[in-house]
Amino acid sequence: MNIRGMIRFSMVDFPGKIACVVFCARCNFRCPFCHNPHLVLDPDSQPRVRMPQILHFMQSRVGKLEGIVISGGEPTLDPELPGFAKQMTDMGFAVKLDTNGSHPEILKSLYEAGCLHALGIDYKAPSGKYNEIANSGISDIADRVKRSLAFALENHIRLDVRTTVHKNLLSFEDLQTMRSELNSIGVKDWNLQQFNPVDTLDEAISKTPTYSELELISFARKLSSTKVRGLTGIYLE
Ligand code: SF4
Repeated sequence: MNIRGMIRFSMVDFPGKIACVVFCARCNFRCPFCHNPHLVLDPDSQPRVRMPQILHFMQSRVGKLEGIVISGGEPTLDPELPGFAKQMTDMGFAVKLDTNGSHPEILKSLYEAGCLHALGIDYKAPSGKYNEIANSGISDIADRVKRSLAFALENHIRLDVRTTVHKNLLSFEDLQTMRSELNSIGVKDWNLQQFNPVDTLDEAISKTPTYSELELISFARKLSSTKVRGLTGIYLE
């Protein structure tokens, strides 16, 4: 695995579990609000965390940590993901994947191999403007993300669906459209995330005003089963 960062202990990244988080290099999206631009645009600028080091660390945490979050970047781009997820599962850790949802077939094969226990999937925009925000160049990207969500629901995989909201990118009407698209897939719980104006892929967006937390909370109250997560990962009410 091409790992370029690691958090050894987290209580917020894997709901209900104490976990380690690793960050994979590269991504097939170019979201303007991305706060890991170095991982996306220039992963070689970040020191590589070598696999023996990760395996040694995880071995030393058997019985102490409960899970591992494989995040990014986009982890499904790494051809070594299935082998790594299997190693973690065999060591007794639950595996959560944070993904942009662009590879539903990889989620399926991980799940069928017994190596996928939870998913965090970004739902970035209404279908009609998905690539306006994700900049993936993948023509059927909205359909792929919907298939990833549907797969998680069909197989009762623990699922965190989240959307980073910036005023320049998503209006309240967009959020209403997304809410009804999620409803039609069967997704109930949805989290709106406050934009983090630190070190973004598009530098201009971090200088542009966005919604306040109060505005986001007021949006969420008008949408069903929708909550707001602040910058610390804590829910705001
Ligand atoms: S925010 Fe977008 S560009 Fe950044 S890692 Fe996630 S999917 Fe990739």
